[in-house]
Amino acid sequence: MSGPSEAGDWPFTFRCRRSGNCCARPGGVVHVDAADIARIAGALGLSEAGFRARYVAATGDRLVDGFGSRCVFLAEGAEASCSIYAVRPVRCASWPYWPELRDDPSALAAARRLCPGLE
Ligand code: SF4
Repeated sequence: MSGPSEAGDWPFTFRCRRSGNCCARPGGVVHVDAADIARIAGALGLSEAGFRARYVAATGDRLVDGFGSRCVFLAEGAEASCSIYAVRPVRCASWPYWPELRDDPSALAAARRLCPGLE
């Protein structure tokens, strides 16, 4: 849920507030690639096929939503946390330092409505 602290030409500042909003988007989708799947499956002691069957949508590139569009790995609490933090998808680890948030003002505006850590 927290991204790397990166200097550079980003049109925002970011400090993670542990809201969990990024992991519980309506219609929630968490992108994963083959390397993410191999890493997370290994950490969970699952075969890649088993992990895919249980957690990955048929499209092959997204974690299956949990109930209410939450990521199945989001752990609730006073501060939200990721139950697979050490091996979380690259897309999660790099939030919010995504090219589309740098280059597309409407995407950044939408992200700001979602994430209280973006300023
Ligand atoms: S894998 Fe972890 S960081 Fe990524 S959306 Fe799920 S709970 Fe959040």
